[in-house]
Amino acid sequence: MYSKLPNVGTTIFTVMSSLAIEYKAINLGQGFPDFGMSEELIGLVNEAMKNGFNQYAHMNGYRPLLEAIAEKAEDLYGAKVNPDTEITITPGGTYALYTAMTTVLHPGDEVIVFEPAYDSYIPGIELNGAKPVIIPLTFPDYKINWEEVRNHLNEKTRMIILNSPHNPTGSVLSADDLQQLRSLISNTNILVLSDEVYEHIIFDGHRHESILRYPDLLQRSFVCFSFGKNYHCTGWKLGYCIAPAEMMKEFRKVHQFNCFSCDTPKQVALATYLRNKDAYLQLGAFMQQKRDYLQQLMRQTKFEPLPSFGSFFQCYSYRNISTESENDFVQRMVKEYGVVAIPVSAFYQKPVNNQVVRFCFVKKEETLEAAVERLISFH
Ligand code: PMP
Ligand code: GLN
Repeated sequence: MYSKLPNVGTTIFTVMSSLAIEYKAINLGQGFPDFGMSEELIGLVNEAMKNGFNQYAHMNGYRPLLEAIAEKAEDLYGAKVNPDTEITITPGGTYALYTAMTTVLHPGDEVIVFEPAYDSYIPGIELNGAKPVIIPLTFPDYKINWEEVRNHLNEKTRMIILNSPHNPTGSVLSADDLQQLRSLISNTNILVLSDEVYEHIIFDGHRHESILRYPDLLQRSFVCFSFGKNYHCTGWKLGYCIAPAEMMKEFRKVHQFNCFSCDTPKQVALATYLRNKDAYLQLGAFMQQKRDYLQQLMRQTKFEPLPSFGSFFQCYSYRNISTESENDFVQRMVKEYGVVAIPVSAFYQKPVNNQVVRFCFVKKEETLEAAVERLISFH
C-alpha cells in the first residue's frame, strides 16, 4: 500500500466549495473574501513586473521585504528579528507550517495538537512519522486546559502547535495562556509551532498574544504568517516564517529543496506596501464590523452565536433547529437553502456532534444579507 494518509479524504474546504458551485449556493464556507483587494497593491505588482522583477527571488526572500517584516515585528511586538537569518518567505502559511514540522519532527516524536484543529496540522505530523497527541479545547468557549497539557507531556513530546486567533472557533489566547505555556515548557526541549495567520484579525479590544512578544518562547518557536489573510488575496499563497537562526537554518535546508523561492513581483510589491501600517492596523476594526453585521442579521434566525474574538469565522449552534449530525445539516443547508457552511466536526479526528457550524463573514454586506435571507426559514 503506497498511501501515506490512508484515512484522509479531500479537505472539507474543497468539498464544500465544490458543492457551492454545484448547487449555486452562497459560499460562507471556505475562508476567503468575496470583495476586491487594494488597487495600490495590484499597481505595485504590475510596476514590479514592468521593472523586470520576473526571475527567481533569493531563496530566503526578497531582502527589502525581509527588512520590512523585521521592522514590523519590532514595531508591533518588540521582537528583535534578524532579516538575514531569522525570516523566510514561503508560498503561504500552510507551507510554512508543514516545512517547520518536516524540519524538526522525527518518527516517534509526539506533537500536542488542540482540537478542533485546522485541518493541515495532523496530516503534517503524520506525514513526518510523528504522533499527534490530541487535547480537546473546552466547549463551548474553546480554551486550552493547561492541566491536561501538563498530563500529556513526556520525554517524547517534541512540539506544541498553537493557533491564535483560532480557526475554526475564533477563540484567542490570553497573556495568561502564554504564561502557562512558558512555565510548562521552560525546562524542556519542547518546540512551539505558532500559527498566527490571523494576527491582525482580532476584535473587542483583545491584544494579539504573539509568540514574538515573548523572547524566551521565540527562542524555541516557528511562527507562521500569511499575506493572503492580511491583504484580501488568499490566492496569492504567500507568507513567511520567523524562527531563531539555528532553527531557521534547518528550515531553509528543507525549503531549498521543496519550493526554493517564492513569487518575485509580489514580494517586491509587498516590500513597499508593508510600510503602509494603516492597511494592517485597521484590519481588525474592518473585520469586526463584518462579524457584527453577520451577528445582527443572524438574530432573525434560530441559529445561536458562539463567541468569536478573531479570525475570519464565527461558529453558530443549530441546536434550536435540528439534532442532525453536522455533516447532514450542512448538506441539507446547501441543497435545500442554498448556503454553504463548514461542519466544525471536520476539525476533529473522532466523530463529535456539538451541533455547531462555522460561517465565514469576510464577505460583502449583500452576500451576508442574501445568505441570512435564506436561513431565516431554516427548520
Ligand atoms: N492556518 C490557518 C489557521 C488558516 O486558517 C489558514 C487558512 N488559509 C492557513 C493557516 C493557511 O494560510 P495560507 O493560505 O497562507 O497557506
Ligand atoms: N483557511 C481557509 C479556511 O479555513 C481555507 C484554506 C484552504 O482551503 N485550505 O476556510
